[in-house]
Amino acid sequence: MNEPNHIAAILKAIHFAADKHRNQRRKDVEASPYINHPIELAELLARVGGVTDLITLQAAILHDTVEDTKTSFAELDDHFGIEIRKVVAEVTDDKKLPKEERKRLQIEHAPHISTPAKQVKLADKISNVLGVTNYPPADWSLERREEYLDWTEKVVKGCRGSNPALENHYDNVLQTGRQQLELLKRETTQEQEMHSEANPSLRLTPEQIAKATESRERLSQAIIQGLHQDNIEIFGEDYIKK
Ligand code: NDP
Ligand code: ZN
Repeated sequence: MNEPNHIAAILKAIHFAADKHRNQRRKDVEASPYINHPIELAELLARVGGVTDLITLQAAILHDTVEDTKTSFAELDDHFGIEIRKVVAEVTDDKKLPKEERKRLQIEHAPHISTPAKQVKLADKISNVLGVTNYPPADWSLERREEYLDWTEKVVKGCRGSNPALENHYDNVLQTGRQQLELLKRETTQEQEMHSEANPSLRLTPEQIAKATESRERLSQAIIQGLHQDNIEIFGEDYIKK
């Protein structure tokens, strides 16, 4: 794996993907450079999953090029060969379908894809669970973040048996993610309780608590949305790729 031609092959994929994703940003409020995500996948596969297979590592780096940029499968054939293109195709959603259908198909297809594709998918879900936990997309509620984690678990179920170390890492990352979200929920509730204990005359009715929670959520979303708008002004609409 340390052979010079292997290093050159990895760098070629990074160079290609960086160019294709050059005007895109991830959905976190800081609008991280898009390329951080494919690089993270390859790093997870190598470091956590012990993957040394060049096809898998290159496919991980290229995994979102067709789905999220104007790259064609023919282009991947030309630059990287049929094997890599096939793995990328296995992890590429059909953007012509409605989102809910695409999400359903990911769950349905996962058990039937190749082992390299399962490994790439696992790394993708690890990266996105970390994202949703620590750097969530602008304007996502806690519920939406939870729903996203639940969905990844269903997709990952179909990828099991392909790489135990990665699967174990996913389980830990998911557990931490759920704990974090639970903590955030509890903090909101505790604050409400402290407020009413400190001054019983301020004790809120269940309806008032529901209203307060809603406006608190609206306020935090407005702040996130503000950052989001700033990023749109800086990077343009293209910074969110879908
Ligand atoms: P999206 O598909 O719109 O967004 C998630 C995708 O965005 C990821 O899979 C990832 O894809 C990419 N992404 C970019 N930046 C980040 C980041 N910082 N962290 C994580 N992922 C990032 O989300 P969904 O439509 O799947 O929504 C999540 C869940 O919420 C669904 O289960 C849906 O049913 C539910 N939902 C809830 C709503 C609500 O208001 N309660 C409204 C709509 C949906 P990639 O790796 O391919 O780039
Ligand atoms: Zn991805």
